[in-house]
Amino acid sequence: MSIEGVIREEAQQIAANLRGRIEQLRKQYLEAKARADELKAQIDAASIAVERVADFKPKIYGLYQCPHCWVNQNQQVPMISGPSENKNEIFRCSRCGHITEI
Ligand SMILES: [Zn+2]
Repeated sequence: MSIEGVIREEAQQIAANLRGRIEQLRKQYLEAKARADELKAQIDAASIAVERVADFKPKIYGLYQCPHCWVNQNQQVPMISGPSENKNEIFRCSRCGHITEI
């Protein structure tokens, strides 16, 4: 094989290696993009939840409301007063289980 032929063959091999690398990089790119989209969605949801706190009403129709359900889920859920092991008063959310101890 001529010198040109050898060098051309090397170039072909380098290109073949890069083709494989392109597929690896494309797969990594798509995974990173999916992860970035997921993080962006979490940022957007958390930002909306943070703003929701301004509208939180701790008591509605005489019932104390779960702050966790309101801020995270945009749901008004009353908390039920219950017994505690000490002298503190406990309120428990029937939906998420959040406990407020007074
Ligand atoms: Zn709750």
